[in-house]
Amino acid sequence: MKTIGVIGGMSWESTLEYYRIMNETVKRKMGGSHSAKMLVYSFDFDEVERLQHEGNWDELSEMMINAAHRLEKAGADFLVIATNTMHKLVDNMIQRITIPILHIVDVVGEEIVELGLKKVGLLGTKFTMEDGFYSNRLRENFGVEVFVPTNVERDVVHSVIYDELVKGIIKESSKKKFVEIVKNLELRGIQGIILGCTEIPLLINQRDVDIPVFDTTKLHAIAAVEFALNDD
Ligand code: GLU
Repeated sequence: MKTIGVIGGMSWESTLEYYRIMNETVKRKMGGSHSAKMLVYSFDFDEVERLQHEGNWDELSEMMINAAHRLEKAGADFLVIATNTMHKLVDNMIQRITIPILHIVDVVGEEIVELGLKKVGLLGTKFTMEDGFYSNRLRENFGVEVFVPTNVERDVVHSVIYDELVKGIIKESSKKKFVEIVKNLELRGIQGIILGCTEIPLLINQRDVDIPVFDTTKLHAIAAVEFALNDD
């Protein structure tokens, strides 16, 4: 089994989910007392959030590379960045590290293709919904067209993530808003919805909507275990 290097704490609410799902997946696949070999580097999210909103992606990039180096040095065989948003920095990171990164968009893209879907909605932080790094990769590598909510709805999703979910606050009223936003995207023709923020599955899940839901936390964590258990 390879050792998974997790760059987490963004936020720890979702890193906890990664930890649980990875261990449960190893147990399901290997049985007995087996559990995941893993190293976790966990950020103080307050610093990360501040730099994101200041637009200081250069500094964040250095912090991510530094975390990756620590995990590399400690013996991680590959990396899992336990947040969708910070995948914005993967292109910078891969130039300075030697171990592979299991890209969250590739994991989701493969699942969308597997289900034969062509048009999907994307919920996430404004960075994820608006910057293009997510939608472009899905379009270019998987032929998937991505729809994002309206400007006003994007503000709602972003605020719920930063003001509630990363702080462990789960509100029924926010859940209703998210379900409504998905319904509006359905009217525009989406066939599935990406929960493209690793905390969103704490708020809504497949039971809340009637189109396929792509839970990035779960898909990414399971894919990491599959990669860890793979021979090559
Ligand atoms: N965990 C969230 C994500 O998947 C948001 C927190 C962050 O900005 O990293 O995008």
